[in-house]
Amino acid sequence: MSLIVQKFGGTSVANTERILAAARRAILETRAGNKVVMVVSAMGKQTDHLISLAKELTERPNAREMDMLLSTGEQVTIALMAIALEKLGHEAVSFTGAQIGIKTDKTYNKARIRSISTDRMVKALDAGKIVIAAGFQGVDDDFNITTLGRGGSDTTAVALAAALKAERCDIYTDVDGVYTTDPRVVPDARKLNRISYDEMLELASMGAGVMHSRSIEFAKKFGVLVHVRSSFTENPGTVIGPEPESRLAAACGAALATNETRLTVFGVPDQPGVAMRLFSKLAEAKIPIDMIAQNSSRDGRTDVSFTVQSDDAAKAREVMEATVAEIGAERLGFDDAVAKVSLVGLGMTKQSGVAQRMFHALYERGVNIQMIATSDIKISALISRDDGVKALRAVHEAFKLNEEPATGEEADSNGGASANATSDSFLEGVSPRLLSHITSAEMEEVVVEAVDLDEDQARVTLYNLPDRPGLAADVFDKIAEGRVIVDMIVQSVGREQLANITFTIPRAELEAVKSVSDGICDAYGCCAEFDGRVAKLTVRGSGLRSHTGLASRMFMTLSESNVNVSVISLSERCAGVLVDEAHGKTSQKRLVEEFSANRI
Ligand code: ADP
Ligand code: ASP
Ligand code: MG
Repeated sequence: MSLIVQKFGGTSVANTERILAAARRAILETRAGNKVVMVVSAMGKQTDHLISLAKELTERPNAREMDMLLSTGEQVTIALMAIALEKLGHEAVSFTGAQIGIKTDKTYNKARIRSISTDRMVKALDAGKIVIAAGFQGVDDDFNITTLGRGGSDTTAVALAAALKAERCDIYTDVDGVYTTDPRVVPDARKLNRISYDEMLELASMGAGVMHSRSIEFAKKFGVLVHVRSSFTENPGTVIGPEPESRLAAACGAALATNETRLTVFGVPDQPGVAMRLFSKLAEAKIPIDMIAQNSSRDGRTDVSFTVQSDDAAKAREVMEATVAEIGAERLGFDDAVAKVSLVGLGMTKQSGVAQRMFHALYERGVNIQMIATSDIKISALISRDDGVKALRAVHEAFKLNEEPATGEEADSNGGASANATSDSFLEGVSPRLLSHITSAEMEEVVVEAVDLDEDQARVTLYNLPDRPGLAADVFDKIAEGRVIVDMIVQSVGREQLANITFTIPRAELEAVKSVSDGICDAYGCCAEFDGRVAKLTVRGSGLRSHTGLASRMFMTLSESNVNVSVISLSERCAGVLVDEAHGKTSQKRLVEEFSANRI
């Protein structure tokens, strides 16, 4: 007898009729001979309603009391679901997060799951009951109710599937699967048959609201197969698993995040570790940062820009204002009229010109790029919020995401990695299923798989380019003519509206790229700097961005060894930095020591 976890989102339990429909699905699954655990969200827009009630009282309500308030939404649904099941003739029992022992840390509003005790659920299941668990909530060691963050019922569902070693976790929602982008925004978005954990994790983290990104960390870590499907139809949905839909397509999807805010700390003293202190302060406040750009300047000071989610902006501003004085920086800048468009795909590691195609698509629609940050399987551009939808549509169209991708084996099995990249992998040869032994550890602890060192890269920085639409498109058009695989790209706009663009390339291409860059400098009146002696260090794992402490631990470890970091790229899958080549091997060793406690 297998166990299936079925999760029903807000729209799928919005009224008693839908609750009955969900109950029928659970009963059908039991008739097929399976045990069923249901995880349910609050009805319809109830969570939004509760938030607006609190906001009528105060702009910044007490975090503990917010969790107390919001958890009531799910509690209503579990009881109604149990009543519906009994009415349909099936025994059922409902449990709150605390009752099934979902233990979390103490971070109200975005608590992380530490452990789940399955005894009570197993007993009820063995007695033939359908178990109904409240999504989105848990309890800390002092019995305070906590919630996991908006959309967190997905995470409850996948975590329960992992803890109970379920056969599958079915996510019933109001779309019939994961699409190449939000089908409400881009009507010709295509439903994916399949998507890999890594791609889904990045897409979710970059704004694809269909799944809570932390649920995908669980799915990957514990090898849970997730099936996203409609609660309104019988259509097959999308399977989220180890394999991508296509290894040949450059991208599998695009996402838009409109709730972004950019902060810039101007005039940070350019000494090892100083910029890193900014990030550790934010990490302590549990604020995930996303795009990061440092503009190295000539007068011994740099400007550091980064983006946070707008929900965290007020707190980030508070933290930064205190830090600016502490580190002797000049001032803090703030821009919340921005949005972020991202392209994601495992295939992009092996193809040249992907970034350039994306920048071109934006340029052709007149969208100016304010900031660029890339990681191995995603490219993000920060743009004006007003341009958001236009930009998403442009990127979707440019990569023909509405069309079925080619399938088959890729020609290059090297993963695009440089020939002399070395990996200190913790995970060699371990299949995801075998990872289920980590259930006994802190469930949502960050996972580090490897620390890679790539000594085959060179850095190119173009300074003081005029900030105007088409700049990135033009620069990377020229670079792409040489079929060079460009790796880390960071663009930011600094003072006087001048942009800096930094990127890395295989070292063997440096001479060719130098002459192209000289041409760019002649055309734009900018200057270029080349560094053929860089090493790229990459910590690989999952959840590296949203586990706020990881990147700052990485930066601190390097700064304690007096290693200066010139470029940073951050995603859920990788945290990468460029350091001087002379420090490559020792830095890799230090990072392995630092993270071996978090290894699988
Ligand atoms: P639930 O309440 O069931 O958890 P959500 O509203 O959280 O549902 O998620 C479903 C919604 O996610 C869809 O209605 C859709 O508008 C949105 N969405 C965003 N990106 C995507 C995507 N790539 N694929 C499918 N849906 C998406
Ligand atoms: N009810 C919560 C929310 O609206 C959790 C969820 O639906 O996943 O965010
Ligand atoms: Mg949801």
